[in-house]
Amino acid sequence: MSKIEFNMENLEKCACLNCPVQEKSACIAEKKKMIKNKMEEIKETGEMPNPKDVPAVYCATEVTECDDLDFEKMCMCASCPLWQEKDLGNGMPMGYYCRDGAAQ
Ligand code: SF4
Ligand code: SF4
Repeated sequence: MSKIEFNMENLEKCACLNCPVQEKSACIAEKKKMIKNKMEEIKETGEMPNPKDVPAVYCATEVTECDDLDFEKMCMCASCPLWQEKDLGNGMPMGYYCRDGAAQ
């Protein structure tokens, strides 16, 4: 189990939605659209969607089911506040959680 919680607070801190690795993925674009439309509802109810539908906070969840990401691009996790707060630079894997799985 990951040491990071999958919650709204962490979703708001997360840099994945602006990450170049996901930028050109059609599969991720669909998920981004859905999540942006639901953001207000999530904030009001506090109920998080299925992690598979959220292209973010991968450090708390699991690898993406989309197969059109560009891992030649740079992961943005080191710019995320959670990176410092949870000392993710000294954990495994080190970023690219969308590809390599949750932070342990
Ligand atoms: S885990 Fe890293 S590489 Fe994957 S989308 Fe988030 S910031 Fe980008
Ligand atoms: S460390 Fe990476 S995956 Fe985790 S919330 Fe921050 S940007 Fe998202």
